[in-house]
Amino acid sequence: MPASCLCSSLLIPFAGAGGYGGGGYGGGAGGGFGGGDRMGALGAGLNKIDWTAGTLSHFEKNFYVEDKRVTARSDREVQEFRTAKQMSIQGQNIPKPVQSFDEAGFPDYIMSEIRKMGFTEPSAIQAQAWPVALQGRDIVAIAETGSGKTIGFALPAMVHINAQALLAPGDGPIALILAPTRELAVQIQQECARFGGSSRIRNCAVYGGVPKGPQIRDLQRGAEIVIATPGRLIDMLEAGKLNLRRVTYLVMDEADRMLDMGFEPQIRKILSQIRPDKQTCMFSATWPKEVQRLANDFLNNFIQVNIGSIELAANHNVKQVIEVCTDFEKRGRLIKHLDHISQENAKVLIFTGTKRVADDLTKYLRQDGWPALAIHGDKQQQERDWVLAEFKSGRSPIMVATAVASRGLGT
Ligand code: ADP
Ligand code: MG
Repeated sequence: MPASCLCSSLLIPFAGAGGYGGGGYGGGAGGGFGGGDRMGALGAGLNKIDWTAGTLSHFEKNFYVEDKRVTARSDREVQEFRTAKQMSIQGQNIPKPVQSFDEAGFPDYIMSEIRKMGFTEPSAIQAQAWPVALQGRDIVAIAETGSGKTIGFALPAMVHINAQALLAPGDGPIALILAPTRELAVQIQQECARFGGSSRIRNCAVYGGVPKGPQIRDLQRGAEIVIATPGRLIDMLEAGKLNLRRVTYLVMDEADRMLDMGFEPQIRKILSQIRPDKQTCMFSATWPKEVQRLANDFLNNFIQVNIGSIELAANHNVKQVIEVCTDFEKRGRLIKHLDHISQENAKVLIFTGTKRVADDLTKYLRQDGWPALAIHGDKQQQERDWVLAEFKSGRSPIMVATAVASRGLGT
């Protein structure tokens, strides 16, 4: 079990098996699988909003007062803490992480709930995400499932909401949390209810697969937080059941899942309905290209926090076998695997640490009669394209590549 996992019951390794934050995909119940049938009419009833008109009212988004204990820590101590928590961060003016709940400076109504929950210290993602989010900065936070991301964005949301003007009748939410499935929306709602209840922050979850009536009534009563799956939210927006004019704190939770499920057009449509100077928090377990693009398109001067590997998290649909052996045994083992795999007519990608090893290994394989070609940075672009084409077409089903050349092979 990874050291940073807080909840072993959430560690179900196969996507779709009901795991992933207890949510699973929930079939149609999760608000549908994104795109598909109604894409043509997607959000057609939503007007384009002209945000340049200069009518945006002022709002406060920086609530962070650094605790004295945090201020007193040297850069070196901060670095040691980050290393111990496997944190990597990018961005400008990154605040120091907090190392205890007290240092985050949350109000009493939040602290008493934390005590009730019996939590002893902030998880790694919380330690760094809270100061960033409380400062009103845009944030991308990447940490594995079960690492406490929900209160990572939900507690700063409470602080944000409590500092805004009260909702007037007809106002939409101040915080909007987008989530991929009904199950996840409900889980987030429970955390929001727990931590927001005592300060009367109301929430409403809006997801597909159930009648709209009760959700519409909840919305009409007024909710500072709306937690929504993208498809149903667009339905509600088009039907005029809520508006996003007051949204100043936006969260995309499980952004990777939402994009996997085809929600990107809906998300873009929804974001176009929110004022551009809002604060945006994007939480995800992985950091694939599609999520990076979304972040770059919609977040401003953001700080990115990763816990654990910065590379993509392992894809659970891929079986991974790790063999530990000596250098001397490597080639023999490789041939054994090739013998086995080649019976299945499969393509084989072999990664090496260096260009020299890539070339040596390719030569060795070819001498042994294997249809292998090498690709790496020392090869001319033309040759690389050719090797890639031979590999893709299956004429040369074994490709030996350096890890560097491997970037972009997927495209
Ligand atoms: P994620 O969204 O990263 O998958 P969750 O927010 O669902 O993770 O949290 C997983 C579990 O860890 C939940 O049961 C939550 O209550 C618990 N949790 C959150 N923060 C802490 C903490 N600081 N210490 C202990 N448990 C925590
Ligand atoms: Mg989560």
